[in-house]
Amino acid sequence: MNIHEHQAKDLLKEFGAPVSNGFVILNPEEIKEKIKFINSKKLVIKAQIHAGGRGKAGGVKLVDRSEIQSEVDKMFGKILVTHQTGPEGKQVKRIYIQEAYDIEKELYLSCLIDRESSKIVFISSTEGGVDIESVAKKTPEKILTTKIDLKKSLDKFDKEKILKIFSFSKNQRQDAENLLDALYNILIQKDASLIEINPLVLTKQKKIICLDAKMNFDENALFRRPDIFKLRDLNEEEPAEIEASKNGLAYIKLNGSIGCMVNGAGLAMATMDIIKLYGQEPANFLDVGGGATKEQVAAAFKLILSDKKVKGILINIFGGIMRCDVLANGVVEAAREININVPLVVRLAGTNFEKGKDILDQSGLKILSASDLNDAAKKIVEAIK
Ligand code: GDP
Ligand code: MG
Repeated sequence: MNIHEHQAKDLLKEFGAPVSNGFVILNPEEIKEKIKFINSKKLVIKAQIHAGGRGKAGGVKLVDRSEIQSEVDKMFGKILVTHQTGPEGKQVKRIYIQEAYDIEKELYLSCLIDRESSKIVFISSTEGGVDIESVAKKTPEKILTTKIDLKKSLDKFDKEKILKIFSFSKNQRQDAENLLDALYNILIQKDASLIEINPLVLTKQKKIICLDAKMNFDENALFRRPDIFKLRDLNEEEPAEIEASKNGLAYIKLNGSIGCMVNGAGLAMATMDIIKLYGQEPANFLDVGGGATKEQVAAAFKLILSDKKVKGILINIFGGIMRCDVLANGVVEAAREININVPLVVRLAGTNFEKGKDILDQSGLKILSASDLNDAAKKIVEAIK
């Protein structure tokens, strides 16, 4: 789960990190009351959306104090299209107002869980502000990666390694060490999986400040982090994905035309792969789980069909815990309830698959049944032509 920049900065501050001086507003009128919290002549207004690349898309603006109201009015409600939002963009519904800083240098610092090494990794670079992926590609020597074994806290050797690349003065170093502690502690104590400060700036006044902050939290741990769960902003999430999580389905919308309903995440990925192999694109990832009920199958159909790009549906079920006949009944009942006006291919394997196939064949519904995964992919790709 992602949170907004202003929420991430509040957390950083709570954990002792040096962050920019600012506040959030949820409507343009709030500015009149809150502006008194900042004294500077120059301000920065920042669109709060769950996507990076706002700077280049007009979502970060340096303004004079006198123009603040008109600039805020202009930004509220605007659709921002950045390289991370997709072509439909995201509407600005809250704005962070910040004191403007004179920047001497933009740096990069992040802390994340590295699954490959099962360690916590810090990434530090002197090339902040721009897109770090291109720095990694063109000048990898400017990026320092430090791996840390899981432990209670960072020690001074860890900190030295991470900060080596920056050559900070003594005062800056103290702030930087506090920042490292904050990142590490948030990662551990709040179950964050990624915290990225880009840019971390060195100001002309020689102070270091987190000017941007992105945080991502492990969704499977949210049950034990109610304070983090509270920060969820449903405005920023795909409506279909919210609906899916209400029904206990794991659904991720994609851009293709073949809807998939599968049990098990691994099988769902294999199904998406094979659709691509046959020259089409999946419209979604959808895992109905080990013991899907009729209601869940119906909800899954509705979700898939709510995407107007879907031209056909492929159901791929392996009956391990789930019995194929139970699933087939669910499919038939759900298909009767909902008007499915696109081709439907079903492949069943495992426990009671013959019974399941009979149920589908005798249902009177237009269902193409497939003998294996290859056959299923071939049939659905053929059917939508
Ligand atoms: P992002 O584009 O979504 O990552 O948004 P950022 O918060 O990283 O801001 C983008 C850029 O705006 C930064 O890299 C800075 O160059 C610039 N910027 C942000 N805040 C300030 C500020 O206080 N002063 C100045 N001069 N530039 C700023
Ligand atoms: Mg940034």
